[in-house]
Amino acid sequence: MESIAPPGIAGKGPPRIVVIEDNPTSLELMTYLLRACGCLPLTAIDGEEGVAVAQREQPDLILCDIQLPKLHGYEVARILKRDARLRHVPLVAVTAYAMVGDREKVLAAGFDGYLGKPIAPEDFMRQVTGFLTRGEREQREAAGGGPDQRES
Ligand code: MN
Repeated sequence: MESIAPPGIAGKGPPRIVVIEDNPTSLELMTYLLRACGCLPLTAIDGEEGVAVAQREQPDLILCDIQLPKLHGYEVARILKRDARLRHVPLVAVTAYAMVGDREKVLAAGFDGYLGKPIAPEDFMRQVTGFLTRGEREQREAAGGGPDQRES
């Protein structure tokens, strides 16, 4: 697979992506796909660890399961969206939607979007690229607004 890093992020090195997931198979698949596409995955296997890793690493994107030990995904979202340094980092739920209305609940909890399980590699990477691009733009705007001077 080719690198999927958007241009603005590629200039800073590989996109750093926190992956919070307690299912070993899902975690392995996501980290494999992210590495194969030139990203650097930073993993956590429960909600508490996920919050700690995100706060320590200040990543470009956070992917988060919903059913997690120690801290539910909704709680993770609540904490991260109250953190001024992480508020603008795209936070994406990775979940299988069993119930009607789950998507709305996830977005209401503070997530910026969601990816469905089971993970389909091409869809997964395309969506990750989209969230990285959006996050890069939003963080630039939050940092001072206007066009990015580095590009001119
Ligand atoms: Mn889970």
